Amino acid sequence: DVKQVGCVGVCNQVPMLEIHKNGEEAAYYTKINANEVGDIIEKHFQSKSWMSRFKNRFYNYAENITFSDIPKSSNRYNANEKDTPIAEFLKGQINIATEYRGEIRPSDFEEYKSKEGFKALEKCLKEMNPDQIIDEIENSGLKGRGGAGFPSAIKWRLVKQAQSEKKYIICNGDEGDPGAFMDRMLLESYPFRVIEGIIIAAYAVGATEGRLYIRAEYPLAVERIREGIKICREKGILGKNILGSDFSFDMEIFEGAGAFVCGEETALIASIEGQRGIPKLRPPYPAEKGLWEQPTLINNTETFSLVPWILRNGADDFNKIGTEKSKGTKVFALAGKINRGGLIEVPMGITIRQIVEEIGGGIANGKKFKAVQIGGPSGGCIPADMADTTIDFDSLKEVGAMMGSGGLIVLDESDCMVDIARYFLSFTQEESCGRCTFCRIGTRRMLEILDKIKSGKGKLEDLDLLEKLAINTKKGSICGLGQTAPNPVLSTLKYFRHEYEAHIKGTC
Ligand code: SF4
Repeated sequence: DVKQVGCVGVCNQVPMLEIHKNGEEAAYYTKINANEVGDIIEKHFQSKSWMSRFKNRFYNYAENITFSDIPKSSNRYNANEKDTPIAEFLKGQINIATEYRGEIRPSDFEEYKSKEGFKALEKCLKEMNPDQIIDEIENSGLKGRGGAGFPSAIKWRLVKQAQSEKKYIICNGDEGDPGAFMDRMLLESYPFRVIEGIIIAAYAVGATEGRLYIRAEYPLAVERIREGIKICREKGILGKNILGSDFSFDMEIFEGAGAFVCGEETALIASIEGQRGIPKLRPPYPAEKGLWEQPTLINNTETFSLVPWILRNGADDFNKIGTEKSKGTKVFALAGKINRGGLIEVPMGITIRQIVEEIGGGIANGKKFKAVQIGGPSGGCIPADMADTTIDFDSLKEVGAMMGSGGLIVLDESDCMVDIARYFLSFTQEESCGRCTFCRIGTRRMLEILDKIKSGKGKLEDLDLLEKLAINTKKGSICGLGQTAPNPVLSTLKYFRHEYEAHIKGTC
């Protein structure tokens, strides 16, 4: 059999070919070149007819793969070999949202089922009532993975308790942070898991209709989820009387047009309703008045992906992983100046150093580790000498960063921190919806100051003004975008002020 699997996470070693032969240890070929495939197959299998069948199927898959920049010769590793880039990269990771990574065909319903797929849904519908499900989520300690880290059970209970004939559920897949690709990979690789998590949550809160808000720039994610929904309808997993129960629920995709601010839940709702995607003042919260003014549960893709595992294995197993206040795992898109980048799922409580040095294999090209930008444009820069900071919601906040949705960009000694701050601020400035004065104008003035500093025309007192504007922008903005946009500037001013000063004094 030849199969294409979902994201293996090891982006630093792709394109990858894994060969399983009865009685032999699995072999991995990484960074393969399309022209080598024939030779690789011949080494393992002699049958000529099989070869031609394989080649045809392989090239069908390979059509969409860009083979540029791939070394001429591939690397071979055995599955149990230690100290290989793959083994090192995967060591210390825990796969919950990414369970069975690299093993299942994303759109294969039967294969998902054979790997305990829809067991959690079946258990919920047959053995649990909605309150028991919410209690289980509460006991697991699950917090929303979209950025703010709000306890999921509180949200779920609010929607459940809201009195209304109609309730909605929304999966937020509008990932837009530069350097982040967690939602995309989860939606593309595990469409049935995301769908299962949404149905369980819908049953728990009493929602009968759902929307998956996926940005249109993720066409494969849209395609796989669309296919997943279609198959689930055919199999009685979506629609009337799901799995023979008296619970009926259906969902559809809404393709977002790519505005970063639409990741904010009230803006996202406005966008689905056909209005301009701008945030609204809260309260009322979506749990009380959301989509079409009805109680609505919104969680992000990763949160829903964790739900089936929690219900199947029990809250205690999830609760055992992580720190006292941050439970379970977190998926990160590890990128930047790192030897081994990719998609990782790590237990909460792991340190930044462990991620950079052990999983990521250290800084590329022998350069020195300088900092990590964690949490995308809403996050902050943490310097290398604070790399023993643990990854959990509270510790990151304490050092002026935030988990965000999970972008983790590693910076080396050649990166200018003023440039980094400017890059992220210019992104949020452009994405500001313009509703709040400080977010609209404050960030623009901040950018002007950064440009002045970069051009060597800045003055030391500009740094105080920059800081003041940043603090006021945080205070004077109504949504998360404006409230967190100054974080990259504030954190670099705190930890790398000398670089700003060096630009002003002309010493760099
Ligand atoms: Fe719009 Fe910025 Fe205000 Fe959010 S903080 S509502 S993005 S202007």
